[in-house]
Amino acid sequence: MKKEEFKVKKGIYNDWNEVFKNPRPVTVKSFITGYVMINKRGALNPDHPDAGKINDEALKVPILAHWIHHTQYGEYLVDAGLDSSYYGDPYGKMKGIFAGLFKRLKLFGDAFIQKKNQDIIYHLKNNSIKLNGVFLSHLHSDHVAGVRDLPKDIFYVVGKGEKYVNHKPFFYGDYLKGIKTLHEIDFSKAPTMPILGPCVDIFGDGSFWAIPTPGHTPGHMSFLVNGEKNLVLLATDACFIKSGFEKGIGSSDYTDDVLMAQSSLNNLVEFKKVYTQVEVLCGHE
Ligand SMILES: [Zn+2]
Repeated sequence: MKKEEFKVKKGIYNDWNEVFKNPRPVTVKSFITGYVMINKRGALNPDHPDAGKINDEALKVPILAHWIHHTQYGEYLVDAGLDSSYYGDPYGKMKGIFAGLFKRLKLFGDAFIQKKNQDIIYHLKNNSIKLNGVFLSHLHSDHVAGVRDLPKDIFYVVGKGEKYVNHKPFFYGDYLKGIKTLHEIDFSKAPTMPILGPCVDIFGDGSFWAIPTPGHTPGHMSFLVNGEKNLVLLATDACFIKSGFEKGIGSSDYTDDVLMAQSSLNNLVEFKKVYTQVEVLCGHE
């Protein structure tokens, strides 16, 4: 798999108020592709100064993929959720010398839960979606496993610096198998927008934005959809659950750099305070 720079269009905006005054013909709809059990203590960093006492509590949260439909530029996904292999197998085709052992030891917790007709291909067929490309917020399995069932002759985009881990031959999911080129967004070349810093206006018309929110993973991205019907910030895993956003507390579990993740979340919270009309959707809500 080779890596190539995603060609950033030169946007026309440098002010969010101007962006929101010009909503575009783009919509977003979220699909549930399965569920995962997470611990509240960790989904919310218990060491955050405002955390108070956070108890161990198992939360069953959805694994999401988001369908972006632009009447002019076509159809895309933000994240791929889960493929159909998780129906009846919480580890979804995990392979490798240690895969069986890890499954028995439940090393990855309770893994994933999927009902019939929840996988990403079901949703694409059900909505007659013909994909042009996929934007991956980051490369954790609950966001990329669905790629295995998706066409490979479309483009796939990640944030620059994002690492893809496939522990071959020990245990691996081969989530990105068949993708020839991974396109990377280099935010250092993007124009600076208020509060959020460098942001990429993907189509150049103010409809769909990529926002760097590193910390959960090094190249983690969030997205903003500026539609005529909905104005939505897809925080993805910059914040797992709604109460985290309300309290302004980031995650500590599964998170590479907790302080950096918190600082990315602080920016999003600040953004929502100023632009109250923006609806926020968290990564597992
Ligand atoms: Zn996640």
